[in-house]
Amino acid sequence: MSFKSGFVSIIGRPNVGKSTLLNQMVGTKIAIMSDKPQTTRNKIRAVLTSEKGQIIFIDTPGVQKPRNKLGEFMLKQALTSLEEVDVLLYVVEANSPIGPQENYLLKTLAEVKNPIILAVNKIDTVSKAEAENIALIIENKIPVLKTYFLSALKGEGVADLIEGVFELLPEGPPYYPEGQVTDYPERFIIAEYVREQILHLTREEVPHSVAVVVEEIKPRENSDTVYVSAVIYVERDSQKGIIIGKNGKMLKEIGQRARREIERLLGSKIYLELWVKVKEDWRNREAWIRNFGFTDFE
Ligand code: GDP
Ligand code: MG
Repeated sequence: MSFKSGFVSIIGRPNVGKSTLLNQMVGTKIAIMSDKPQTTRNKIRAVLTSEKGQIIFIDTPGVQKPRNKLGEFMLKQALTSLEEVDVLLYVVEANSPIGPQENYLLKTLAEVKNPIILAVNKIDTVSKAEAENIALIIENKIPVLKTYFLSALKGEGVADLIEGVFELLPEGPPYYPEGQVTDYPERFIIAEYVREQILHLTREEVPHSVAVVVEEIKPRENSDTVYVSAVIYVERDSQKGIIIGKNGKMLKEIGQRARREIERLLGSKIYLELWVKVKEDWRNREAWIRNFGFTDFE
């Protein structure tokens, strides 16, 4: 059998389950997930290799009208990835009606030339008829090659979807060695794990005001422990207070939870040191957005 390979961009409104689906397909937690919109900020590449071939998925930040410079960056990330790939995997959720945000995205998609596969996600939350209804509305607005119904959370329908993607890919070589699941540097994944816990543990504007930078990953001499230090940047003193918490309780909780995930990723014991710093209004400052690792910003 011939080997197929190609690039697939995962697009969709924030919160529809793109990152959950990505992790499910490649079997490793590369993209962090939360119930807060705008969890994913960068393009993330994830690789699935099987005997059939290799799919390189690109998880994009959700497409939406930007409200600040970070938002502009995220939109650009999402849109440029539409042109560069073999297949677009458009994810919608079955449990919400098509609103203005979805229509904004549909308008964009109506203009792209790449083949589009529709994934109607979260079917565990609605009836079959409701899911099919959402699919019909979308199929009437843009050219969809094939529609799949799935629950990314439960892994249902995911294998069929992967088959469907392979069908559309051209013959080609593997781009990444077998076993490599991402080209996203470890340092960034670790920073994302810390940010994920902050998303889970804080509310309102705090989660969106946070950037995490890993400064050091160093194996300790004469021990099997790896030392990791990271800085949590916030925009205001009050947010710093929230992240640290009473007697440092919140920061400790964030650290403990993130440490478990990092240990799983690296396969060794971790000593995690977290610092909190204020960088006023960083989401509107291009230099800082770059500094935080959003390198494609233009
Ligand atoms: P993204 O913003 O599109 O990347 O969405 P995420 O993958 O971060 O998921 C957003 C939220 O939806 C999280 O709370 C997920 O647990 C949840 N979610 C994702 N897929 C499913 C699904 O198939 N069923 C249900 N019930 N929830 C899901
Ligand atoms: Mg995401």
